[in-house]
Amino acid sequence: MASTSRKTAIAVCQMTSTHDVENNFNVCADLIRQAKDKNAKMVFLPECFDYVGRNKEEAIGLAVAEDGPLIARFRQLARQNDLWLSLGGFHEINAETKKNPFNTHLIINNEGATVAKYRKLHLFDVNIPGKVRLMESDFSTAGDRLVQPVQTPAGVVALSTCYDVRFPELSVWQRKRGAQILTFPSAFTANTGAAHWEVLLRARAVETQCYVVGATQTGWHNEKRESYGHAMVVDPWGKILAEISDGSTGVEVVEIDLDYVDSVRASQPVLQHRRADLYNLITKEPIANELTETVVFGEHTIHSATIFYRTPLSYAFVNRKPVVLGHVLVSPIRVVHHLTELTNEETADLFNAAKIVQWVLESVYDVTSSTVSVQDGPDAGQSVKHVHAHILPRRPGDFGDAPGNNIYEAIVTHDRDPNPALFRTIEHMAAEAEVYRKVIAANRD
Ligand code: AMP
Repeated sequence: MASTSRKTAIAVCQMTSTHDVENNFNVCADLIRQAKDKNAKMVFLPECFDYVGRNKEEAIGLAVAEDGPLIARFRQLARQNDLWLSLGGFHEINAETKKNPFNTHLIINNEGATVAKYRKLHLFDVNIPGKVRLMESDFSTAGDRLVQPVQTPAGVVALSTCYDVRFPELSVWQRKRGAQILTFPSAFTANTGAAHWEVLLRARAVETQCYVVGATQTGWHNEKRESYGHAMVVDPWGKILAEISDGSTGVEVVEIDLDYVDSVRASQPVLQHRRADLYNLITKEPIANELTETVVFGEHTIHSATIFYRTPLSYAFVNRKPVVLGHVLVSPIRVVHHLTELTNEETADLFNAAKIVQWVLESVYDVTSSTVSVQDGPDAGQSVKHVHAHILPRRPGDFGDAPGNNIYEAIVTHDRDPNPALFRTIEHMAAEAEVYRKVIAANRD
């Protein structure tokens, strides 16, 4: 029956990690087995499930790699128990800079494979005199990208970590990208937790109409650091479904009901009621790895090999008849004739994409200037009825004695002759696109 198949048991965990990695692992393994006994299909472990260092040196020095032996043991637990794991935050060696580790949240499937990886974006650098002082950036490096929510047996899960709960734009973005379950694995400090933990989790649940899962650390990890606890699952109406009392290690199993998510959203469609005409989220979204789909460009079909950058609403591709070396185009994915017809989100996305593409071109061609131009309508020289920005890297004197003066004439006239013999081959265009793709990929991490 469809309705029962949309209900899945999940487990939220609470523990008190110390610097003793082996002991922490054994606690996690026990919690996972308890969750399995209660028929959970997915288990949520807190931030710092690997360890809490007693000092900065230990916090950095005990860090591990995602493909190292500690995480491999968790992969094995997932396989053995045939369940999915949210590993809410481990200290991931920063292989690129060799500096402070990332605070990384992994989702592992029942075959032991990583399905999603998120590096905590907001670091807890907080000093409230007399209450709490913790400078996470002393021993952690912040992530630099949004991560799309992922499909799991319980529903579409979005990854966040602890302090991220105070930044509602992140949760709203996740909801817009399909999240049904938000996660905030935490080691919330005792003082801020007592004041804000419950209200923050419930607020994120009510705003986004998602389930919210907060696995937690609790109690004293060492002489200096104490966590609040109160591991919690909140439903999309803001009701607390489970809460583990502070100080105790344990597991609570609750049912996630995706029909309930749908019904809360249908009866109060807050996402549709947002005034996108007045305010909006502007996000720098992850770049797709798989450039496999072709895209419609007016009456043309753009070959995937010639597309070098995609965002959810825009794409960039190389020109079949460039005016100068590096003359490319950026378009909205939706076929829209006129700039004025773009939604606010498409507009923001298109110009963010244009900005990134301009940066790529200026890096590749080692220039400092670009022409960014839209011929918006036939009287402005538009030949393809689909909004597109031309981006051209500029070199000193590239258009004669009066630099820049003739470039607009060239953009209007360069594609007037429809003779295909004048167009570059797909192979040639693909090779150019590959150069840009590599620069983008190299700058992602
Ligand atoms: P406009 O004259 O402003 O409409 O610009 C259209 C641009 O699209 C010109 O720079 C053309 O060279 C380019 N163009 C048209 N069709 C393709 C295609 N199939 N692949 C790549 N570029 C194209």
